[in-house]
This record gives sequence, structure tokens and C-alpha cells, in this order.
Amino acid sequence: MFTCTVCHAQECRNELVTELFQIDGQYVLVERISAVVCARCGEESFVRGTTEKIRLLVHSRAESTNSIAMPVFEFA
Ligand SMILES: [Zn+2]
Repeated sequence: MFTCTVCHAQECRNELVTELFQIDGQYVLVERISAVVCARCGEESFVRGTTEKIRLLVHSRAESTNSIAMPVFEFA
């Protein structure tokens, strides 16, 4: 059963999310990751093994489908 690690709500939705990862010093944006999203606070957690699969995907140097440029800000 689902329990949110942040707010302990027990309701969730399955969604496809987009997430930015930093792997070996390189930023990669991964789209359409299946995640479990808390219905109350929106905390995303990935299905077990997802992070590992993303790592493998990036390490295998799979052809990325797109490249984007994004602004970077420093807060401190
Ligand atoms: Zn929550």
C-alpha cells in the first residue's frame, strides 16, 4: 500500500512525469517516467528500479530524442 514519505497520505495517482537528473556531472532530462504521485502534496516517487534504469539508459548513450538549452541561475 502507498504511504507518502512526506505527508503520510495514502492516496496516490500514477502519472508520467518529466524529471531532471544529474548523472556523472551531466544533466539529463528524462520524459515520460512512470511515477507514483501523492494526491495530497504532489511528492513524486518512482517505481522501484526506475532510477537504475535511467542510469543505464544514460550510460548506454542511447540516442536522446531531443536537446534543449535552458537558463541556469545561481541562488547563492
Ligand atoms: Zn504527500
